[in-house]
Amino acid sequence: MTNWHRLRKRVHLICFLIFLLLPFSNVVRFDIPRQRFYFFGHELWINEFGIIFFTLMFLMFVVIAASVVFGRVYCGYLCPQMIFSEASAAIEKRLRRWLRPRAPVASAAFYSSLALASVFLAFVFISYFVEPRDLIRRLFSLDIRTAAGISGAAVTLLTFLDFAFVRLHFCTTVCPYGYLQGMLSDSGTLLVRYSDPKADCIECQKCVRDCPMDIDIRKSPFQIECVHCGECIDSCDTILGRLKTPKRGLIRYSWGAEGGRRFSFDAKRIILLLVVMFYAGGLFTALAMRHAVLVRVTADRATLYRTGTDGRIYNHFRYSIANRSRNAEQVVFSLRQLPAATLLLPRNPISVAPGATITGEFDISAPARRGGEFVTHFNLSASTIPDGQTDIFPMTFICPAEAQ
Ligand code: SF4
Ligand code: SF4
Repeated sequence: MTNWHRLRKRVHLICFLIFLLLPFSNVVRFDIPRQRFYFFGHELWINEFGIIFFTLMFLMFVVIAASVVFGRVYCGYLCPQMIFSEASAAIEKRLRRWLRPRAPVASAAFYSSLALASVFLAFVFISYFVEPRDLIRRLFSLDIRTAAGISGAAVTLLTFLDFAFVRLHFCTTVCPYGYLQGMLSDSGTLLVRYSDPKADCIECQKCVRDCPMDIDIRKSPFQIECVHCGECIDSCDTILGRLKTPKRGLIRYSWGAEGGRRFSFDAKRIILLLVVMFYAGGLFTALAMRHAVLVRVTADRATLYRTGTDGRIYNHFRYSIANRSRNAEQVVFSLRQLPAATLLLPRNPISVAPGATITGEFDISAPARRGGEFVTHFNLSASTIPDGQTDIFPMTFICPAEAQ
């Protein structure tokens, strides 16, 4: 028989470790000051709208699909509010039990340990939005003047108040997910259900006492407070298992209110799976096609051309190079299909530091040829070393009409 409480506590521990590790390993992190979005090792720039769009749509449909299939299992097993609220309540209960004769000492011990934990949790939370090393520096300099410092102080205070006083009331008052779940669930969604066709319930109320949301699952499987944690299943299994003639508990996880034992794959679930696969495919294609170094070249047509003292014709161009990788890169420009032309760059290749964006200008000169084209189409290529990508830019070179 599955012990849901033990399973849930193990999942809570794994989620807590993931919560701690994600911002430090850049698996998922949104660096606001640097305007970067980190996703599984990829450093995405805020202007990479396509990838960020696919990422957000993919995550949103994963949440929707999980809610349709597994109901509020996210709330009971994965939600940080649930995990930290239960941990805070358990620590408070234990401290008050250990220090029972000295209630003020127990309160002081609990609130001071919660204050320390709040600083730590707020630090981890803000690390999702600010580079952790930068945050440590701000923390040790007690920075409460900059936006990050003020956010840190505010999040610490809110964390403390939340886990000291609000806890699971948050789930039934503020959190919109429970209400959203009501709209997403259907007749095949996983839920916790009480069924007693043989009138075996001994009215011990243990399922009610052990429920973290203080509800009675026997009234309905659709109560908005129910987070499908399964604690009442363990309670009932334990109590009825102790009877002289042990019985199976009366509360179970079931697929739908009719007591379905198997997950059903209907049209709605197939469509959701296809939508998730579509966005996952779009996301991974966009990531695979992503260029670590973004090169842009535009012709400066404020002046169409210039005739140099050497009699050659000059056209002016501008470039920008954004190195979105973590390595130093070099970009080499070269001309194709423009005979006798010269690329006048002060440096070629151009070095770009990791994360840097540089801009510059250059000229291309070519001999003025009588009978030549007014507009000559050519390609400018930009090769990146060591990344190995090559971008080709179709451009035009303009000569004076009298040179034709
Ligand atoms: S009724 Fe059962 S499954 Fe629902 S929140 Fe309470 S203990 Fe968890
Ligand atoms: S724990 Fe089981 S037997 Fe006890 S009140 Fe709840 S449903 Fe009835």
